[in-house]
Amino acid sequence: MPAFPRSTGITAITPQATLQVIPREQHPISRKDISPNALRVLYRLRDAGFAAYLVGGAVRDLLVGQHPKDFDVATDATPEQVKQLFRNCRLIGRRFRLAHVVFGGEIIEVATFRANSDDGSGDREMDNGRLVRDNVYGSIEEDAVRRDFTANALYYAIEDFSVRDYVGGYEDVLARRLKLIGDPEQRYREDPVRMLRAVRLAAKLGFSIDEGTAEPIARLAPLLAQAAPARLFEEILKLFLSGHAVASFEGLEKFGLLPVLLPETAAALASNRSGALRRMLVEGLRGTDARVRLDEPASPAFLFALLLWPAYCRALIGLQAQGLDAEDAARRAADRVTVHQLQSVALPRRFSLPMQEIWLLQSRFSTRQRRRVMRLLAHPRFRAAYDFLVLRLAASDSHAVDVDFWREAQHQSGEELAAALGVAQPPDSYTAEEGAPPSKRRRRRRRRSGSAGSPAGE
Ligand code: ATP
Ligand code: MG
Repeated sequence: MPAFPRSTGITAITPQATLQVIPREQHPISRKDISPNALRVLYRLRDAGFAAYLVGGAVRDLLVGQHPKDFDVATDATPEQVKQLFRNCRLIGRRFRLAHVVFGGEIIEVATFRANSDDGSGDREMDNGRLVRDNVYGSIEEDAVRRDFTANALYYAIEDFSVRDYVGGYEDVLARRLKLIGDPEQRYREDPVRMLRAVRLAAKLGFSIDEGTAEPIARLAPLLAQAAPARLFEEILKLFLSGHAVASFEGLEKFGLLPVLLPETAAALASNRSGALRRMLVEGLRGTDARVRLDEPASPAFLFALLLWPAYCRALIGLQAQGLDAEDAARRAADRVTVHQLQSVALPRRFSLPMQEIWLLQSRFSTRQRRRVMRLLAHPRFRAAYDFLVLRLAASDSHAVDVDFWREAQHQSGEELAAALGVAQPPDSYTAEEGAPPSKRRRRRRRRSGSAGSPAGE
């Protein structure tokens, strides 16, 4: 990490905002690290006489030597004025009205400076202390203090390549510290998702959370249940599919957010004394992080299968204890966990259905019946379900036999597999299975119930 010398001119602006300018030669942000499209937008705004800054996560990431995944611009031009400057621009958003300048696959988000306080002239709506609409345009100072963390409120000015800091964010970045701007409790009440953002950004950046910013989280965690389910879904994807899933998970646990975000999983983990379920979950998240690092796809369905597996296991055991047969219990457990989680997190069906399939396929890995083996191998969700089975090894090595079998089976030709399974297998149907030789049937039965019931041991 480059050395960051302390900087120069300090100007008092409001009681909250004091401008500190860090000139180009004193900070490490170079134009070659900024997206050319973002630079284009900045220069065009400036040439049209508007103020134009790179802002938010991109400035923060560049200061700590990370590669920003998107570049946001702040300006004193209104969205309509921005639209007039760029043909490739569309206006979006109700809660925040924004301009998107579109360059092929890259979108540069251009936001007009906004204020956090309403004198009645703007378009702002509060609901019980919560912000529901926020289109009050303001000055750059006001724009800075309405942001969440000081590290997220730094402005890189295209006119002189300096960094403008109104809230002490530069120093906090140097100290690798996340600190809310203003009164933490009030800021969390305005928008409880900021609690998740604190954990997520600390995990991503390797920052500590400032004491005053950390303290209210456990106390205010229940407010998160009021957040919009669609927003929580998006935030969960960011928490767990950005390459820092393990650290994010540990942060959620540490700050008491897990019981609000994933209540049934948190309860299942708390009652699983062996710690096997947690081991598996963390192992799965580690795998997800590795995939993200290698730029391999990591699916939300698999992620949610993992995150809600402890909840599913717990529900399954409960239903089996009520005397339901394994298959029925599995289906009902899957539905129940999904429906309960949907109350707080909007998991779309295109992810919840494959998530449930991954769970329900687990009990089928104990089969060695030829046609069933073939059918499972051809199942569109086989690979995901198999990868999930491998993860379950972290919880219990009783799955090793099945993992070995299915690892081999995937690579064998039809004949090899038939030979391995023996041609004398009965044809595939439930009735045929019932009619299987007693010794085999007993063995299979034991394995089946063992497999369906095995979460009990995890
Ligand atoms: P990353 O993109 O790495 O996830 P980010 O900080 O860029 O992190 P975004 O969601 O892209 O996060 O938000 C961009 C900027 O908008 C933030 O840096 C912050 O200044 C501001 N911001 C985002 N969410 C909030 C919020 N809930 N409250 C106040 N300001 C916010
Ligand atoms: Mg961002």
